[in-house]
Amino acid sequence: MTNSSNPPVAVVTGAARGIGLATTQLLLEDGWHVAMIDRDEPELMKVSNGLTGARPFVCDVSVPEDVDQMARQVLAWSGRIDALVNNAGVADFGPMADTDFKRWRTVMETNLDGVFLCSQALIPALKQTHGAIVNIASISGLRASTLRVAYGTSKAAVIHLTKQQAAELGEHNVRVNCVAPGPVRTKLAIAVHSPEIIAAYHDAIPLNRYGAEHEIAQAIVFLASPKASYITGQVLAADGGFESTGVGLP
Ligand code: NAD
Repeated sequence: MTNSSNPPVAVVTGAARGIGLATTQLLLEDGWHVAMIDRDEPELMKVSNGLTGARPFVCDVSVPEDVDQMARQVLAWSGRIDALVNNAGVADFGPMADTDFKRWRTVMETNLDGVFLCSQALIPALKQTHGAIVNIASISGLRASTLRVAYGTSKAAVIHLTKQQAAELGEHNVRVNCVAPGPVRTKLAIAVHSPEIIAAYHDAIPLNRYGAEHEIAQAIVFLASPKASYITGQVLAADGGFESTGVGLP
């Protein structure tokens, strides 16, 4: 991918752990430089320490002022941005009846507003490099479930926002795609998946297992890279075949 004297630069949100950290590590292995964005300052500082080519930026992606400052700081550091991975997300598990407005807004603020804000702040730089955006949705945005009113709706909106962005940015040769992961045993999923849900997922997924962070990262890095140069506006389900079976979400 890379020219070591002029490496491509990616911005990865939610980079302090889980899928965002795995994506950062894979991009670094492929010769990218990475701006690691997270609101968890202690964890971000700990994991970025010693990652050559990476630089941490503390930012809450749901706060417009934070995002504007982050965009300025990243560009002052790198001078260019070739890819934006909108990965930061929060989990939520509850039906409509239990979801008060504050809870609903908390999910939307990170999962949807964060994608909007980071994209808007960094699109001018991406237009200059003919770069790419990869948004992270979920199979919960493709299939409804009685237990995921806020999370599933936020991720369905991310899928539609991906298509809107692809339509709008195509004339600038900026590609926008979306990865919809199935279940991955990160901190986010462990917090909300009971033993019954884990067993039900194993049954419902043709590959009979959860995904690993690096397996989702591989799909993200592919879509961010020039190897996906004629792919835009797409949703890639990295889900062990779950989406292809038509089985309902546990
Ligand atoms: P994780 O909880 O392990 O990591 C998420 C990271 O995002 C954390 O470091 C957290 O501090 C950061 N973050 C959260 N809100 C933020 C905000 N407002 N501003 C900045 N940083 C913020 O989660 P993960 O499992 O790695 O999930 C990454 C993405 O993948 C999320 O968008 C999630 O919805 C999606 N996803 C995960 C799964 C799964 O099973 N783990 C399945 C489908 C989709």
